[in-house]
Amino acid sequence: MIDLTRSQFMRRFALGLGLSLMVAACGGGDPGTSDAGTPADAGGVIKVATEPAFPPFESQGPDGELEGFDIDLMMAIGETAGLEVQFESLPFDGIIPALQAGTVDAAISGMTITEERAQTVDFSSPYFKAGLAIAVQEGTDDINGFEDLENKKIAVQIGTTGASEAAKIPGAEISTFDSAPLALQELVNGNVDAVINDAPVTLFAISSDNITGLKVVGELLTEEFYGIALPKGSANLAAINDALAAMIADGSYAEIYQKWFGAEPPTLPESAF
Ligand code: GLN
Repeated sequence: MIDLTRSQFMRRFALGLGLSLMVAACGGGDPGTSDAGTPADAGGVIKVATEPAFPPFESQGPDGELEGFDIDLMMAIGETAGLEVQFESLPFDGIIPALQAGTVDAAISGMTITEERAQTVDFSSPYFKAGLAIAVQEGTDDINGFEDLENKKIAVQIGTTGASEAAKIPGAEISTFDSAPLALQELVNGNVDAVINDAPVTLFAISSDNITGLKVVGELLTEEFYGIALPKGSANLAAINDALAAMIADGSYAEIYQKWFGAEPPTLPESAF
């Protein structure tokens, strides 16, 4: 059952990414490097924030344990880099403030690398290619793309790229939720016309039994890359990037990708913009 669900999900996800992309954010810009900060001791502990309501990247299993692609990847990066990973659950919109305040050392949470966020935190090299998708109820026939969202009711997750994208729609009535599943549930309940959210998460929810009666329409609105976020100037950045590069080179990254997405990973760029 789980395999079927996963492969259904993968087919739809691959299909989604195969559609021509309207790339919303492009252009130059050097991500820059930083060498300030306190180097983590070898074997040091790294406190990593995540918002665990974003399957298949991070969620809580039946016993409350964290699971998902990001969780496996971060644990493996920690092992490779000689860092002991301790996860801390935080609301998504509290993650960047926590990094800035230095109460956590890093965050992995399906977080898109954006130029705006990169002004306040450092990002690792991209570790996942995603994009935003529009979800509607199965019976909806008047919303087939971004242009059809004008004056519609749209649910989004607070503080996300989906929320920023929705804010650009003229006349749209936006409701914000603390997590992506809550925004999708609002759509299932018929209280909004559409949800703008990360395609892999929406497609995974649709392929699971938890969310029923929804479909994804149109092309992906954006091409986005996820990165591990760190406080500005964190000396852990180099170790994390080296570990990620080593895992991509030796196939252990691909193994984790296979486990969660049932496919070969795409080639990732060295930087997101
Ligand atoms: N990728 C989206 C963002 O970074 C959503 C992330 C999330 O909800 N965990 O805004």
